[in-house]
Amino acid sequence: MIKLFRLLKPYVWLVIFIVLLMFGQAMAELYLPTLMSDVVNNGMMKGDSTYILKYGAYMLIVALGSSACSILGSFISSITAVGFGRDLRNKVFTRVESYSLHEFDKIGTASLITRTTNDITQIQTVLIMMFRFLIYAPIMCIGGIIMALSKDKVLTIIFAIVLPMLLATIGILAGTVVPKFKALQKKLDKVNLVLRENLIGIRVIRAFNRLNVEKERFLDANKDLTDTSIKINKIMAAMQPIMIVFMNVTSIAIIWFAGLRINENKMQIGDMMAFLQYAMQIMFSLIMVSIMYVMVPRAQASAVRINEVLDMLPEINDPIHAKKADQRKGYIEFRNVTFSYPGAEQPAISNISFSASPGETTAIIGGTGSGKSTLISLVPRFYDIDSGNILVDGVDVRELTQKELRAKIGFVPQSAVLFSGSAADNIRYGKDDATEEEIRHAAEVAQAGEFIANMKDGYESEISQGGTNVSGGQKQRLSIARALIRRPEIYIFDDSFSALDFKTDAKLRAALKKEIQDSTVIIVAQRVSTVMDADRIIVLDDGQIVGTGSHRELLKTCEVYHEIVSSQLSEEEIA
Ligand code: ADP
Ligand code: MG
Repeated sequence: MIKLFRLLKPYVWLVIFIVLLMFGQAMAELYLPTLMSDVVNNGMMKGDSTYILKYGAYMLIVALGSSACSILGSFISSITAVGFGRDLRNKVFTRVESYSLHEFDKIGTASLITRTTNDITQIQTVLIMMFRFLIYAPIMCIGGIIMALSKDKVLTIIFAIVLPMLLATIGILAGTVVPKFKALQKKLDKVNLVLRENLIGIRVIRAFNRLNVEKERFLDANKDLTDTSIKINKIMAAMQPIMIVFMNVTSIAIIWFAGLRINENKMQIGDMMAFLQYAMQIMFSLIMVSIMYVMVPRAQASAVRINEVLDMLPEINDPIHAKKADQRKGYIEFRNVTFSYPGAEQPAISNISFSASPGETTAIIGGTGSGKSTLISLVPRFYDIDSGNILVDGVDVRELTQKELRAKIGFVPQSAVLFSGSAADNIRYGKDDATEEEIRHAAEVAQAGEFIANMKDGYESEISQGGTNVSGGQKQRLSIARALIRRPEIYIFDDSFSALDFKTDAKLRAALKKEIQDSTVIIVAQRVSTVMDADRIIVLDDGQIVGTGSHRELLKTCEVYHEIVSSQLSEEEIA
């Protein structure tokens, strides 16, 4: 947590101001009972009304000063803590944006969301408390004891008995609560995880009639969270009455023994009243400390989780001396590339070598799980490879900045992802300053023009979050248009035609051919008809290249390709 507090730097003056205010409040509150005992001893007992009025006015001023410090202190504490929370959220968000896919896999999306919201709120809350109590409580406790001693030394013996008992009780209660607080945050993660999965998978859940099972799963997670919260709250609830009993017993003891001493003329009534108030102040400050003692570990657990996010360095970084790749345009070369996913036993792809140049279309075909998506995700450097080289425009992708590298690529992922906003917005995502004309053209080429025109507001029609109000094929065409509008050197289509009917598929490829003549194109596909007329077809099997060549060549030489073809086309079509 200390580490996180470095972020408080911009607020240093505010924090100093808070400390001063809290110091002022504590001093004023410690002074008040003494003033009061003076009023009682020297004013009331002697019937001196000018003395009472004069010191009464003093008391009023001190009390007002203390309230002012308290209000201003709370106000500035809140401002500071909320600003700190905002900074921290920004920082976490920025870090998460720089993650490569690997880091996302590690922490998990649900947990990342809890960490950016709930965990930061925890820290924010505790920060306010720390500002309020960290200075105030110790001053009140130690100052109270000193002041009480100055009023009557003998009575202070009561503290020697009560305070250790109070501390022991607090210690036992806090000891049981703190571990539970730590568990609480994990359980909240779990609830978030189940909720997220349910919201995303609602169609599947309904279609497979898993509603009850999922409900059960959520109830379990929710109950777990609730049970722990209730346990914690029970303990916390017990705390209050116990403290009140402590205070009242102490008050009675003070009045009892002070009464005896007043009878013997060893103490004045005013001092007894002041003594009572000091006792309350001391005990209150101990309770505040105990609350802090409970809350801080909870925030500490949150701080650890946030630090995990901040400390996780993205595996993929820009090189310090980035090279420029402006010699050749759109040239890709794989040299003996092997890559395995973190934690996987076998490489997902191994010993891949091929090259592709502008004006060429390279198709990759192979069964599911053969490593097609993996292979093409290495070009934009979503992952770093184990061995070999991937060159783009003659430069190793690790020697380029990610920004420069990715600006060269128009990537259409296997599952089309759209963002909330209009259809035009979604296409413009590929190029911020795209004109109306360009958007229309890209949509026409992607065969999306017609269906967009048929939507209610044409290009301004809203696409809902995740693109749920368009069909799979429409989503694919929009995400193709989004890549087209960039006019990149390299196009990568990962199974992007799979949800299109044969006719649209053919029309789209014909339109694409004209459009992207000068670019390098990599097409991943399942359908033979999609890849047939590519300049080069790479056949992948189990992460290895088992054949490279044109359709005709591969039919003769590659067993795997022949199998794929004969499973899709009739004998005449093959011949
Ligand atoms: P294809 O696109 O050809 O269907 P993929 O490239 O998606 O195949 O997957 C190839 C292999 O890599 C599969 O065996 C799959 O289990 C594994 N794989 C894919 N993505 C990941 C990932 N994020 N983490 C670990 N393994 C993965
Ligand atoms: Mg795939």
